[in-house]
Amino acid sequence: DVRVRFAPSPTGYLHIGSLRTALYNYIYAKQKKGKFIIRIEDTDRSRLVETAIENLIQSLAWAGIEHDEGVFIDPNSDNTIQKGEHGPYIQSERLDIYNRYIKHLLEGNQAYYCFCSKERIEKVREQLKEKGETPRYDGHCKNLDKEEVKQRLDCNEQHVIRLKLPEEKDISFYDTVRGNVTINTRDMDDQVLMKADGFPTYHFAVVVDDHLMEITHVVRGEEWLTSTPKHVYLFEAFGWKAPQYIHLPTVLNNDKKKLSKRQGDVAVGDFMKKGYLPEAMVNYLALVGWSPEDNRELFTMEELVKHFSFERVSKTGGVFDVDKLNWINGQYIKASSSERITDLAIPYLKKAGYITDDDVQNRYQWIVTMIQSVQEKVSLISEIPEKVSFFFTEQLELESDKARKILEGEQVPDLCNAFIKELNEIEEVDEEFASTIFKKIQKETGVKGKKLFMPIRVMVTGQQHGPDMGGVLKVLGKENVLKRVKYVKE
Ligand code: GLU
Repeated sequence: DVRVRFAPSPTGYLHIGSLRTALYNYIYAKQKKGKFIIRIEDTDRSRLVETAIENLIQSLAWAGIEHDEGVFIDPNSDNTIQKGEHGPYIQSERLDIYNRYIKHLLEGNQAYYCFCSKERIEKVREQLKEKGETPRYDGHCKNLDKEEVKQRLDCNEQHVIRLKLPEEKDISFYDTVRGNVTINTRDMDDQVLMKADGFPTYHFAVVVDDHLMEITHVVRGEEWLTSTPKHVYLFEAFGWKAPQYIHLPTVLNNDKKKLSKRQGDVAVGDFMKKGYLPEAMVNYLALVGWSPEDNRELFTMEELVKHFSFERVSKTGGVFDVDKLNWINGQYIKASSSERITDLAIPYLKKAGYITDDDVQNRYQWIVTMIQSVQEKVSLISEIPEKVSFFFTEQLELESDKARKILEGEQVPDLCNAFIKELNEIEEVDEEFASTIFKKIQKETGVKGKKLFMPIRVMVTGQQHGPDMGGVLKVLGKENVLKRVKYVKE
């Protein structure tokens, strides 16, 4: 049975590249009716960030990426809880396990104690670098006498434990995306497995855990590809079967560099705040690095599960294209119910000072109608306040000189008079009025086409382009429209 895992380190926010890694894991598990596990890799104690775990898991939940096993947030207490039979799923709670397995390697002469100081190792690496060789540990402590080791340990001398790599041995593995990868141990380091602080390194913990948690496929970013031979060798040293590796291409920015915080948003939280819909985010991210057989661009999660395959994941990095994401987001906004978009927009409208809680309570339907009028015109929820701003201005605000020119047309006074006359004949703007008003004004004034539509739009909204006029008139209401038309007339 397929078992995959997403194994973030709680060092801050969830990067969108990592969200894609989690997504591909999730999709694959669903496709194979397997299990998706979340494990927290927190053995680098210097990089821990408080509440990072909560943030990670909430970001995944937002995206609709659900896991079967591992670390969860208890909705009642907001604390982390763990579920599953292969726990604990937080590495810092597994130290006794790592200690047990490192003993095994030490006893089998597959690992060794190293007492070298940081300074010495630094120096060795510098020297190799100067010679133009790959900086690596020189194996100084590799063949220390057993007695000496015991003595130094008894004196509590600071030490790490290193992997003892065989000399001149090819390590090979097959990566689903990359194909065959082979590296010789002469180009590898005697990796530290246990650090001086008693915590395992990532490389050691990841192998022990992937084995004990019965992980069948390791799906992760390609930045780990060069570490994989170490992992594969460790699996071999333990006599365990290594999982299938699948390394995903890096998510790049427009300059084809790794997407990083300096060039804009990279945290899932940033995208949540900007008002992206989770389905749009998931849809778009799936396409960064994977392409379907046809040129189709819109996929629900279910459809992704149906169509996705690692065989169609590219070797080269995928560019994160915000314009395309926005387009997809706009498609999802368009396809959503106006109530849903309204609910998402309400916090933004409140923040802009356009509506209050009272409006939400008492004029909800009015807000929905307003949202409906602009729903097709936005690609982000956060754009909505600006799009509806003209509904809330006291006075008509003309967007440009061009708009002003339009209101200077010679037919405009006639249009105003006819419009005012029609408005005075009704109680309130309703569907019937909204859908017939242009015809009526045309009949009365003889003006038609652009000469009719443009000035009316501008006198009501201040803009040359915008939402459907019927909706605009309904949202503004009789008094507001009247005020605006009269203002133009005078
Ligand atoms: N903890 C690693 C990370 O933060 C996980 C790498 C892996 O999936 O093996 O990316």
